[in-house]
Amino acid sequence: MPELPEIEAYLAALRPRIEGEALDGIRVQSFSLLRTFDPPVDAVAGKRVTGLRRLGKRVVLDLEDDIHVVIHLMIAGRFKWLDPGAAIPKRRGLAALDFATGTLLLTEAGAKRRATMHIVDDQGFAGIDPGGVELADVDAVEFAERFRGERHTLKRTLTDARLFSGIGGAFADEILWHARLSPTQMNTNLSDDEVERLLDTSRRVLEEWTAIRVGETGDGFPTKVTAFHPDMGVHGKYGEPCPVCGAPIQRIVSGGRETNYCPGCQTGGKILADRSLSRLLKDDWPKTLDEL
Ligand SMILES: [Zn+2]
Repeated sequence: MPELPEIEAYLAALRPRIEGEALDGIRVQSFSLLRTFDPPVDAVAGKRVTGLRRLGKRVVLDLEDDIHVVIHLMIAGRFKWLDPGAAIPKRRGLAALDFATGTLLLTEAGAKRRATMHIVDDQGFAGIDPGGVELADVDAVEFAERFRGERHTLKRTLTDARLFSGIGGAFADEILWHARLSPTQMNTNLSDDEVERLLDTSRRVLEEWTAIRVGETGDGFPTKVTAFHPDMGVHGKYGEPCPVCGAPIQRIVSGGRETNYCPGCQTGGKILADRSLSRLLKDDWPKTLDEL
């Protein structure tokens, strides 16, 4: 799923192409995409794009007359920038936003249609905001309050869109690796200093990766948007050596989601129980890095 850095790369590519331009119209091909009916899709025709921004992991096009087009790519949704009037591909195509400068095509790979589009006024916009704060803006006190609001694991807390904006599984893994904290540690167990350091680390990791993603895009348009990158430390690196300590990166799979971590850097050498694997292996399951 595209997270904060990838969405920022899309925004950086979209601004010079459509900011200030009139949206001629939206062609919607997938019925499941559009989740709103008032204002109707025709209401966007001829409205100028006054701004582009991110709401969590969503892309927001602010239009004249307080109309907002809010797009959530979910896991497999992607944007493409094509010539004006480009056709919408039959299988993967969801919608096309038409500008005189080009076509912003929305596609989704796979059989499941999860991506969403909301066309809303100011009031409707407030209703789809999950409420997470931007880590770049939040102060240490509010971060700590939100962070400790409910007792959960660090991984779940960081990826809660009601608390923090734009962080998914990939960057939660990277942040916790940089912070040398276990993903299954409970948020209530962290000291004040640890919470403050986690905020600093989170900001740094998101800033670094935003710069990487935007830099790689350059003047072009993002084409290979994935949650993986060769320079990541742990995310998607199961079995590979940790770039810091050399220990093999581990994973926990639960509910189809994978968490990656380094036992050397994050868990004091402990291998965390992976329910699916540990059930199979029982006593053979290694408990520490040494046994592995
Ligand atoms: Zn390590």
